[in-house]
Amino acid sequence: MKAALISIDALDWEDLPVFRKARNMGRILAHADAIRSEAITPAQTYPCHASILSGSYPSRTFVIDNLSHPERRWQYCRSSIKCPILTDAARSSGLTTAAVCFPMTACADIDYLVPEIWTEREGDDSDPLFSSACSEKGYGYYLRHKAKLDWMRTPGMDLFASSVFVDIVKEQKPDIALLHLSYLDHQKHLHGPLASDVPHAVDFIDNLLGSVFEALSSDYIIFITGDHAHRAQKGSVDISIEGISVHPTGQSAEIYLDGISERDAISKLAAVDGIAKVYGQKELASLGLPPSFDIFAEAEDGYVFTPNGKVTASGHGYVGSEGPYPPFIAINAPCRFRTDRCSIVDEAPTILSLFGLKLDGADGKCLF
Ligand SMILES: [Zn+2]
Repeated sequence: MKAALISIDALDWEDLPVFRKARNMGRILAHADAIRSEAITPAQTYPCHASILSGSYPSRTFVIDNLSHPERRWQYCRSSIKCPILTDAARSSGLTTAAVCFPMTACADIDYLVPEIWTEREGDDSDPLFSSACSEKGYGYYLRHKAKLDWMRTPGMDLFASSVFVDIVKEQKPDIALLHLSYLDHQKHLHGPLASDVPHAVDFIDNLLGSVFEALSSDYIIFITGDHAHRAQKGSVDISIEGISVHPTGQSAEIYLDGISERDAISKLAAVDGIAKVYGQKELASLGLPPSFDIFAEAEDGYVFTPNGKVTASGHGYVGSEGPYPPFIAINAPCRFRTDRCSIVDEAPTILSLFGLKLDGADGKCLF
């Protein structure tokens, strides 16, 4: 038995009717078991992928944004996830693993690893970076397909990712294979929250998935997930309060206090236009968040916290339980899901259960 997990960034449960009409996804979805999967909080790409990989909330992964605080550097590396992940459990039981452009896997213990990573400046030679971040067996696949990369941009990144993934699957047949595609998310940010707003992205991804499904064939149980969905945006939240520093996480923000009491900060933040709710440090655990910052602020629907005031048409970073919800889809699984709703933290325990494996201490549960 072998399993593949394909993360289509920003895939929403509400997008499925559009994908059902696409040639390759339509064929696959006709035989799929699909349920709604709740994102974690904040519904941002790297925190969500850390939780998908680890089966745990940010209270265990300690990943609360794409960017580190206070340096604001991309958290590419496996070492930023502070608990075991799916591929650790697989490797320690002797299974072979692959991951292609899957966030937060750089330098992970994965047999065929080509992570999602890019140079700090466009145009810099990316060979040294990939050489240090890929596995030895993955680096050759990077070299084979690197001409498709266009720095951090999509759709080049997805073309690269799917080409590398297809070759690894066909040539190496790893027991567990992970793939991440980003174009849908990038286009939703520009054009709107639903797949129907970005039909060109749906067509592009569906074409890539045709080759991916062909390579996986019936040898693999295929899982497809989204990490988060999108909400439309129209305005930014502007906070300028002495003693309060803001680390934006899209439609929410981590707040750090310096010389101001929590009570004062909460009352001042609650009066800011565009803020819907403010959570004090004792309430962070109820959101699955670690106590590594002071206050969590949730934006009103349509509002976003930004470092530069720039508001895109659509975005995320919302409180996961409030939705919208990604789907979790299984194809060729030996049994059906025993529920119609789950959390993204249930996905790794479910996949590992097929191999009789568990992730020690994980928050999620097996869905079979
Ligand atoms: Zn994402």
